[in-house]
Amino acid sequence: MEKKFYYAPVGDRLGFDSMDTHWEHAIPEYRNAPHVWNVGGQDNVAVYLLDTGDGLVLFDSGLSPETQYLVVDRIWRTGHDPREIKKIFITHWHGDHTANVRTLSELIGPEVEIWISREDEVEHKKHAEDKTPMYVTPYKVTDFYDNSEPIVMGKFEIHTRLCLGHTPGTTVFFFEDTDEETGKTYRVALHGGIGVGKQLLPKELKKNGLDPLMGWVYVKTCRELSEIPVDITLCSHLNQGNILPNIPKDRNDYSVFVADYLWRDLLLNRADAAEKMLLENEK
Ligand SMILES: [Zn+2]
Repeated sequence: MEKKFYYAPVGDRLGFDSMDTHWEHAIPEYRNAPHVWNVGGQDNVAVYLLDTGDGLVLFDSGLSPETQYLVVDRIWRTGHDPREIKKIFITHWHGDHTANVRTLSELIGPEVEIWISREDEVEHKKHAEDKTPMYVTPYKVTDFYDNSEPIVMGKFEIHTRLCLGHTPGTTVFFFEDTDEETGKTYRVALHGGIGVGKQLLPKELKKNGLDPLMGWVYVKTCRELSEIPVDITLCSHLNQGNILPNIPKDRNDYSVFVADYLWRDLLLNRADAAEKMLLENEK
């Protein structure tokens, strides 16, 4: 079988230039699982909206402050009211995932909960003044993930796992989503940050005051997580699953995204890449 979804390295279209000319990178909203839509509104970083039946959840917040209007617009277009978001789950502290947390929480109101891992809140605080390469907006975290307890909302049980590597507190999310029309249940997963690069080398980690073995922990965790069966993978960056060419004409038809090989392929691909880099570095 030919695989439609696979790890595709970042091409010209998916670099950070999309922050400067975001209108050239605008994409429509589309349904990714029975109760999940990508409302990121551009072709780089996804923002997932989950309708739990007991309030809306947003995973991450958008690429950059300039793209916030796209996120708000795409949420409305799915038939949901952005002011009904109860929780924002931050996958990791980087600016391209957290850029609109502050403005969205101002829009929603003070009752919105902002979640992050304890580990990444430390990093967020360390980098709070950063302006480059990514602008870090001043948002206030209200809750931390407890990876031993699922977060329950409506019929959804959202399980979190730590996958340190991309950042010390990158979080992975697992939940089951049932389509009431067909009765089918899908295992859905979102890995918050699988990008690996020089930041995982012991020398770089040490320089940043982090555990120099974090790169190896990342490799091990990716291999462990790859064993978990997943039907629908939500990609935090769209290139990570070759998503763009596969967005269907009928944007309500999430069935195209049912691909039980993608999660495993993606995580093993990243584990192999990180391992290769770490071994070459030891030579
Ligand atoms: Zn990142």
